[in-house]
Amino acid sequence: MGDTLFDKIIRRDIPAEIVYEDDDVLAFRDINPQAPVHVLFIPKKPIATLNDLTAADAAVIGKLLLAATSWAKAQGFADNGYRCVMNCNKDGGQTVYHIHLHLLAGRQMHWPPG
Ligand code: 5GP
Repeated sequence: MGDTLFDKIIRRDIPAEIVYEDDDVLAFRDINPQAPVHVLFIPKKPIATLNDLTAADAAVIGKLLLAATSWAKAQGFADNGYRCVMNCNKDGGQTVYHIHLHLLAGRQMHWPPG
C-alpha cells in the first residue's frame, strides 16, 4: 500500500471530488484546476513514476487511458478535444509520486506547454 496524497484519496482518508471509479482506476477533480475541466486519473496500484512501469503494468496503463477517453466522450467534450498529460520526476513537473494522467478540457490548449 502506498502512502502518497493520492493513496489517501483512494482510501477516502482525505476528501476529493471523485468523478469516476472502477476496480483499477480512480478519477477526481484537480484541487488547482488549469482548465474548466481538470481531472486526475490514477491507477489504484501505487506506482511512483512513469520510470517505474514494467511490462506487468501494461493493462493498468491501458485501463487508465481508456477510462479517461471514455469519460471524455461521456462528458460530451471529446469531439471538441482535450489534452492528456503525465509528468515524470522533477524536470517533468511531477509533484505527487503516484502516477496520474491529467485530463484538461474546456478551453483552447497551447503548444509548447510551459
Ligand atoms: P503533478 O504536478 O504531480 O503532475 O500533478 C499533481 C496534481 O495534484 C496537481 O495538479 C495538483 O494541483 C493536484 N493536487 C495536489 N494536492 C491535491 C489534493 O489534495 N487534492 C486534489 N484533488 N488534487 C491535488
